[in-house]
Amino acid sequence: MAQANKTTHGAQAHAGPRRLLNGIAVSYGIAIGRAYFINRRAEKTSANMGIALADVQLEENRLDQASSALAAEFESARAQLLSSQPDAPYVREQAELLNAYSMICRDPKMLAASKTIIREKLISAEYACEQAVLAIAGTFEKIDSPYLRERAVDVRAVGERIVSILRGEHLQRQLSGTEKYILFAHDLTPADTLALSPEKILGLATEMGGRTSHTGILARSMHRPCVVGITDLEKDAADGQLVVIDGIRGQVVINPDENELHHYTALQNRFEEYEGRLRKEALLPAETEDGIRVAVYGNIENGAEAGLSAALGAEGIGLFRTEFGYITRRNQPTEDELYEEYAKAVKLAAPGRVVLRTLDVGADKTLAGTLRLEEDNPVLGLRAIRYCMRHQDIFRRQLRAILRASAHGRAAVMFPMISGLHELKQAKSILGEVRQELDNEGIAYDKDIPLGAMIELPSAVFMAQALAREVNFFSIGTNDLIQYILGIDRGNKYVAYLYQPLHPAVIQAIRLVVDAAHEAGITVCVCGEMAADPYCLTALLAMGIDEFSLNPQSIPMVKYIIRHMDTEELRELQRRVYNSNSTRTTSKLIKQYLYERIPGELSFIDPASDTDV
Ligand code: PEP
Ligand code: MG
Repeated sequence: MAQANKTTHGAQAHAGPRRLLNGIAVSYGIAIGRAYFINRRAEKTSANMGIALADVQLEENRLDQASSALAAEFESARAQLLSSQPDAPYVREQAELLNAYSMICRDPKMLAASKTIIREKLISAEYACEQAVLAIAGTFEKIDSPYLRERAVDVRAVGERIVSILRGEHLQRQLSGTEKYILFAHDLTPADTLALSPEKILGLATEMGGRTSHTGILARSMHRPCVVGITDLEKDAADGQLVVIDGIRGQVVINPDENELHHYTALQNRFEEYEGRLRKEALLPAETEDGIRVAVYGNIENGAEAGLSAALGAEGIGLFRTEFGYITRRNQPTEDELYEEYAKAVKLAAPGRVVLRTLDVGADKTLAGTLRLEEDNPVLGLRAIRYCMRHQDIFRRQLRAILRASAHGRAAVMFPMISGLHELKQAKSILGEVRQELDNEGIAYDKDIPLGAMIELPSAVFMAQALAREVNFFSIGTNDLIQYILGIDRGNKYVAYLYQPLHPAVIQAIRLVVDAAHEAGITVCVCGEMAADPYCLTALLAMGIDEFSLNPQSIPMVKYIIRHMDTEELRELQRRVYNSNSTRTTSKLIKQYLYERIPGELSFIDPASDTDV
């Protein structure tokens, strides 16, 4: 982590109960500092504070002041955003959102409704505002327009902020001064993240969130350690406590004792030294000791990240999660907007290739301007390619944008969640029609643009031989493949202990896919987070994976490990891994090999689970 993350927390441990909370590490590093909470869910309801008749005007004035102060804050954040980073990703959408927020603050109906409640019920401004906002949001939620129902979320978000100013606990006040903080939150919305000053934040932790949540993306781009998905963060932690964010193991320590403080301070220093060293070597090729070159790419969520990814040693982009260009904004993007975003990535990644995955929406990722579907089992529902086949207008618009972007460099198209041959052929036939349309219109694109299929469903594993004949490459989405093979929701903390990437069933599935791909003469990439775990990376290398694509932050470490491998030895490891019937045995085999190959570095390596299911 950067020097900015160091803290002057002092050597004194905090008196109070020590707690160790587990979550998911989404941004590497160690941060030590005092905690500050924003967006607590547990304390959302204000006390019903009665007021005297004589204080009605006073409360109304407080409400006016709080709402106009917040509106001014949104307006100045918008102006600053547009002037300081006009070309940053999603600036237009963020500016639009800030504008909408400031309009809600100044909305005469919201203010009048709150004041009526103050006057009629003789209660404080914060309680009245909370009631009025709930009622207005409730009305939006009942309207038969997906767009307006979504606006209920904005009204609630703004209402919560006005209330927090009235309670005197607004973020700006908390984060004023020069002290740096560890930011705790129930969850962070895009609006919260806009109001944050990265230089004041040492690290982040949230109760909600998963590996691809907005919080993780933000923390990685801020280069701050971050742990998400922490049960009981709100219950067990309080403002001002001394805390440690262990973004290596995915833990938060509340009130560490002196020994722990020493341990984490030393670990922080060692981690920074280690990371700095790896980063210096990040641009070296990922070549094994015996000279076999392995391609390492970055996973990105917006076009501009292709630049950062290249600086960290990526040789291109192996997974552009294009759905983030839809779900982080209020309206669906136009074809031209998509084209510009994709072309930006293609140009920044040159001479490397950019694999543009078509929309993977559904489940927890809702498309802009639409409502989440009422599905009993959304993870098994209308997701990814299934969604695109049902909403072909959206799919075709995106394919046109991808093809147009391919004229600017090296691009590839990839279909997510392919479940079988027929589905793949249907998607290919739509791609063929879109190509024909562009040909008819005389629009340039790469006529040899490669096509890939993601292998992330057990059915695709069993159909791999047939699928391999239809595409130019496979990319194994291990995040989903593991959840579907083992029957474990990847975001469910109660069964997280069963989420085992080195489970023999997962290993055998990957083996089938690699064999099918190589038989058909196509390459196979792994683009799930499994590749960022050194144990799993070693197993995947041993199994013959040709390419890796992962979060850019982990690329220097992955390349470093690859440079310490020997393919002859990996072949022997492969034999032993294939013969293992237990996660624990496989982990041990790999650990032993890694310790022999890279002695001394393993303390930073997050070990894959070594327990058996
Ligand atoms: C995966 O499933 O491994 C993958 C890369 O896709 P996502 O995490 O976006 O579902
Ligand atoms: Mg997936």
